[in-house]
Amino acid sequence: MTFRAVRVTKTDAGQSVGFANVDVAELMDGDVTVRVTHSTVNYKDGLALSGKSAIPRKFPMLLGIDFAGIVESSSHPGFKTGDEVVADGFGLGETHSGGYSQKARVNGDWLVKLPAPFSRAEAMAIGTAGYTAALAVDALVEAGVTPQMGPAVVTGAAGGVGSIAIALLAKAGWSVIASTGRAAEADYLKRLGASEVIDRATLSTPAKPLAKERWIAGVDSVGSHTLANLLAQTKYRGAIAACGLAGGMDLPGSVAPFILRGVRLIGIDSVQCPMPPRLAAWARLARDLDRELLASLTQTVPFDRVFKVGEAIMKGQVRGRVVVEIGL
Ligand code: NDP
Repeated sequence: MTFRAVRVTKTDAGQSVGFANVDVAELMDGDVTVRVTHSTVNYKDGLALSGKSAIPRKFPMLLGIDFAGIVESSSHPGFKTGDEVVADGFGLGETHSGGYSQKARVNGDWLVKLPAPFSRAEAMAIGTAGYTAALAVDALVEAGVTPQMGPAVVTGAAGGVGSIAIALLAKAGWSVIASTGRAAEADYLKRLGASEVIDRATLSTPAKPLAKERWIAGVDSVGSHTLANLLAQTKYRGAIAACGLAGGMDLPGSVAPFILRGVRLIGIDSVQCPMPPRLAAWARLARDLDRELLASLTQTVPFDRVFKVGEAIMKGQVRGRVVVEIGL
């Protein structure tokens, strides 16, 4: 039996990525088989779809770092036929066949039961980007920073992580400063809950060791000079959650914010994140993310369009989130 998937193969000439009819025998080991209905395009998916990245680490690989679907069969005690499930990370699309595939076979320990009140499509409107934003907000709360201490800054604001981080922070009472390269999206960012929009160019030049204190908290999806500037402008004992590298993987900064202002830099990893904080992040999303707002930041595309969206996200041209209909 075959099904449709995005498959990457590798030869001495490099990677080759495209749609393929894949035999069910090509799925990797797992105790739960899922009929995938929806996936999404995260930045990492854009990288993988380009055929020029180190995201897939086994070949051939079915791409897609997350999915939502319906369990077809299961020998895992936590899941039964008909359950609606969500999967993010755990090597999907990297070391284990992923979500751009009408079927997936995975370890049931990686699955989350579809969190109410979300539909499968909404779970992928959130996707790994939105779940990562929730992990970042949870980490800031755990660090003890509060809206009463000052504003929070969000970089890569009009992107997936950024958009959902703004919505979650605003809902939790934060005054949010949104940093974007797209001035035209200022109204969009304010609708999400930003109280101020700043030009990302003001954060992208080399940082001084310390600068005027502006925010107590932050969610950064950009890295490099932007993250160094965020740290240099963080108030005494503030915290920045670092989750991305859209602007670069380096961190050309100074230890001054850490040793003179007690600033905390918190790393966020969604891929291997254990189940308790993963479920806590989904609980925050279920409680705090307005579903109409989610719909307003989401576009839906058919499976065929996944490569086009992948190209756009690599150019920083995707606003908010994109749901991919894999097989309804
Ligand atoms: P998006 O492309 O949707 O968002 C990234 C945003 O960053 C863009 O929309 C743009 O926002 C901004 N940006 C893009 N290029 C640059 C640049 N050169 N300099 C400064 N800003 C830039 O991606 P996602 O939201 O899906 O992911 C964001 C980042 O988070 C990625 O690096 C991704 O790999 C990472 N990530 C990490 C995870 C983890 O587990 N740690 C999980 C999920 C994502 P604007 O136009 O508003 O400036």
